[in-house]
Amino acid sequence: MDETSTTSPGDKVCDLFRGAREHFASGATLPLEVRLEGLGRLESAVLEQSDAILAALADDLGKPLLEAWLAEVHFVLSEIRLFRRKLRAWAKPRRVSSPFFVWPARSEIRREPFGTVLVAAPWNYPFQLSLGPLVAALAGGNTVVLKPSELAPATAGILEDLVANVFEPGQVSVVVGGAEIGEALLQQDFDFLFYTGGERVGRLYAEAAARRLAPVVLELGGKSPCLIAEDADLDLVARRLVAAKWFNAGQTCIAPDFVLVPETRRGALVARVVAELEKAYGKGVPVDLAAVVNEAHYQRLLGLVSGEVVQVGEDDPVRRILAPRVLPNTDWDDVSMREEIFGPILPVIGYESLEGVLDRLRKRPDPLALYVFSRDHETLEAIAGAVRSGSVCFNDAMKQAVNLNLPFGGVGASGMGRYRGRAGFETFTWTRAVTRRFWVKDPFLTLPPYGKKGEWMRRWMK
Ligand code: NAD
Repeated sequence: MDETSTTSPGDKVCDLFRGAREHFASGATLPLEVRLEGLGRLESAVLEQSDAILAALADDLGKPLLEAWLAEVHFVLSEIRLFRRKLRAWAKPRRVSSPFFVWPARSEIRREPFGTVLVAAPWNYPFQLSLGPLVAALAGGNTVVLKPSELAPATAGILEDLVANVFEPGQVSVVVGGAEIGEALLQQDFDFLFYTGGERVGRLYAEAAARRLAPVVLELGGKSPCLIAEDADLDLVARRLVAAKWFNAGQTCIAPDFVLVPETRRGALVARVVAELEKAYGKGVPVDLAAVVNEAHYQRLLGLVSGEVVQVGEDDPVRRILAPRVLPNTDWDDVSMREEIFGPILPVIGYESLEGVLDRLRKRPDPLALYVFSRDHETLEAIAGAVRSGSVCFNDAMKQAVNLNLPFGGVGASGMGRYRGRAGFETFTWTRAVTRRFWVKDPFLTLPPYGKKGEWMRRWMK
């Protein structure tokens, strides 16, 4: 019998955590050179392994090459390169002035690593959503235990190998497994928790963080609305909407979940969306459409389809390819409006008044993203001002989330905390205030007896 099979998940996780803790305590991850070298090795390994990574993504989710390359491999490479270019500047202590009554003094803000960080990732972008936070955590000087999703096992296996080849075991370790491993991880004393996934499990991370007063980032989901104003160009809306919604078969946390369009233009929009879908995916089983991750989600998605449906192309239940479906006349109470869709189905709701629709949106949980289409600047800003969301994209969908210069994250029910690029570096470090005084006589010191100093201060320090 192999030795590891006698180790329980709890023991295994305990060992990994202890190793990561000790590695951090050794100070080995603190020098910037070490962090930059690690990122350099990771970049080379991702490039070398890109064929295997793409194959794993095809295996787990049937991702078309373009989608896997752009949103996973290339995205991660870009982020590593950004960190390699900018880390020294971001990590530099920032000098600030000091109030005159502590002169002479020098004050600065330093960025310090939290320590040992847990990163838990979901299955929909299993490579990017594991390595993105990992890169930021390492750049911050932390050690990391990474838990990829068990629902994308081929990618999880690649991540395990990649990390084992690039990093020392204590610096980063990968633990593959489901809820049992996740729960064992939440028993450990992590200094920081970073979770991406659904709300239910997110609460478990928040509770675990609260128990140890550890900071936590929750990257959750929700139903991101796409609101089309009266004056929008529907041809353009349809093209951009189809490109965004059906990327990764709708299994994107910021995918436009449902569409709101003036009732008078609903038919015209649906016709254009369907025409674009036909051009993109044809009449048979769609070729360039990712698969639904597993049978349970496939059945869940079928269960969200009710009432009028326009289906474009055919399903392939064996490969779990679910043909695009538009629900052209959805009602707010329909089953498709009860949960995040997270699949290739688009409900379209007609509205009579913009105010009425904003009022409804304001009463719903805060979404991760808000999409608004209008030619009028004031309309765009007024809608964004009326409805809270983690991010906004005007006149398109999802483009706000592909820019590494913009922070990414939710608000309220869609999560808390930000990452990507500089925002990631700031998230995985804490700011330490440092003041240095000098070996000279103090011009001013609050040392009794105060005499008339109090009155003097009151007069001059208004
Ligand atoms: P999930 O909640 O099922 O799983 C996420 C992670 O939590 C996985 O690693 C899983 O193994 C782990 N986990 C599961 N049960 C656990 C437990 N009991 N204890 C500890 N860990 C546990 O999420 P999912 O289904 O993989 O992802 C889908 C959801 O994630 C959607 O709601 C989507 O919108 C959201 N999402 C958000 C973002 C974002 O960046 N905000 C990105 C992708 C997905």
